[in-house]
Amino acid sequence: MLQKAHELLQNHFGYSSFRLGQEQAITSVLEGNNTVCVMPTGGGKSIVYQIPALVLPGTTIVISPLISLMKDQVDTLTQLGIPATYINSSLTAGEAAARMDDARNGKYKLLYIAPERLGSWEFIDDLQNMEIPLIAVDEAHCISQWGHDFRPSYLQISGLADRLPRKPIVLALTATATPKVREDICASLKINPENTVITGFERSNLSFSVVKGQDRQAYLRDFIKKNEKEAGIIYAATRKIVDQLYESLQKEGFSAARYHAGMKDEDRNGEQERFLQDEATVMVATSAFGMGIDKSNIRYVLHFQLPKNMESYYQEAGRAGRDGLDSECVVLYSSQDVQVQRFLIDQSADRERIAPELEKLQQMVGYCHTEECLQSYILHYFGETETVACGRCGNCTDSRETQDVTKDAQMVLSCIIRMGQKYGKAMTANVLTGSRNKKVLEFRLDKLPTYGLMKDRNAKQVNDLIEFLISQELIGVEHGTYPTIYVPEKGKDVLLGKMEVFRKEAVQIKQVSNDDP
Ligand code: ADP
Repeated sequence: MLQKAHELLQNHFGYSSFRLGQEQAITSVLEGNNTVCVMPTGGGKSIVYQIPALVLPGTTIVISPLISLMKDQVDTLTQLGIPATYINSSLTAGEAAARMDDARNGKYKLLYIAPERLGSWEFIDDLQNMEIPLIAVDEAHCISQWGHDFRPSYLQISGLADRLPRKPIVLALTATATPKVREDICASLKINPENTVITGFERSNLSFSVVKGQDRQAYLRDFIKKNEKEAGIIYAATRKIVDQLYESLQKEGFSAARYHAGMKDEDRNGEQERFLQDEATVMVATSAFGMGIDKSNIRYVLHFQLPKNMESYYQEAGRAGRDGLDSECVVLYSSQDVQVQRFLIDQSADRERIAPELEKLQQMVGYCHTEECLQSYILHYFGETETVACGRCGNCTDSRETQDVTKDAQMVLSCIIRMGQKYGKAMTANVLTGSRNKKVLEFRLDKLPTYGLMKDRNAKQVNDLIEFLISQELIGVEHGTYPTIYVPEKGKDVLLGKMEVFRKEAVQIKQVSNDDP
């Protein structure tokens, strides 16, 4: 069967060899194993289910939450001469029924559906009368509460597999699976975790960096000027900022396009097309832009504001350098953005999602404060344990001296303990800097022996130090009604003098005059 898979790869898809992980995942499926395939965006997950779909008799069901992508996929397959179709809410009831008739008659090798379809008994009835060898679950992280995009209808997939007269093979595919999410995928879809195929998440042509304490507008302008001929994406957190940045870039004569969910469909598509066709070199967008975009020559992805979590960040940044050439991924960090993201989480998530989302945001903030290799930080986040420093990122190439900040760390940690480990970062910084803040006085925190221990610094410097210590896991964050900080075991070792803490000398903080556009 593997021989057949190779033939199909060459004859149908026109590729000479499999990419890393593809062959292993396809083999596992063709041997009849429920399988998880974790590959970075652009790694080539589609043919991992498309080839088995062609080898196996009957119709493979592909479950995908991305309606816009289904059409693209089906169009591509049709062009390759592979019978495929999709059924989702973009069709009229009549169209859907006609396609379903054809599907029941075995006309298609692949049938793409949105997960919501699984709520329909009629639809399940139809599937029961078809030969279905394989269910491919795309974007499988949607099954997990711990994923960044939980979809309750994904929980119905295992029920479907049980209800079919002949048990199909289940293949879950995702680009963004932390160990917790992978566990959930395996448990929910009854996959033996041994049948997990993961390919490295490292992108050796990307250089990551975080820029702090700079006038962002000025930085952005210089950056684009330096890369004027190159295609790049600027991500901002809100539509308003996208519009403002877009207008200011236009005014300065840069060739920019913009994209956000507040625009009319036709305008958005037009802008996307201009970018894809290299008519505009810079795309300014919210995270609404990019799903399924296959533009290989993007030389940089710059986040004007902090992304909401590491999953979104790596997915968005990963759109740079798909052609394998060196590309840059920059985050412009300002602590105010943490408030913006917190606000957005508060607005959008349902109540029980708030704590996990805040925890993810904290990991993202940790990325901006860590001094270890940024590529390694990302890989650790996604569960890779053995990593080596990339040698390319902003931290690996930072030649500043490291300083022993053990004493400073001890001051912060002991203050947290004195405060009963029940306050947040800002309050801790207030106490350490000896602020006369109303709450500090009200709670009599000015009576603590650690009050004013760092009165020679300002609140921002102490806050940065706290974020750095969190990124080193010397301080923990508890996301209750509001976030509080505490000292975990590793932090206690620092307090007891069993461990030292080193930090690159504090970044020179320039006066930020015009931080937001
Ligand atoms: P993913 O779903 O993992 O983001 P895709 O399946 O869309 O990735 O594949 C990304 C790109 O890689 C596509 O343009 C695809 O045609 C190409 N591709 C996939 N497999 C191979 C291969 N074995 N050889 C060359 N190109 C490939």
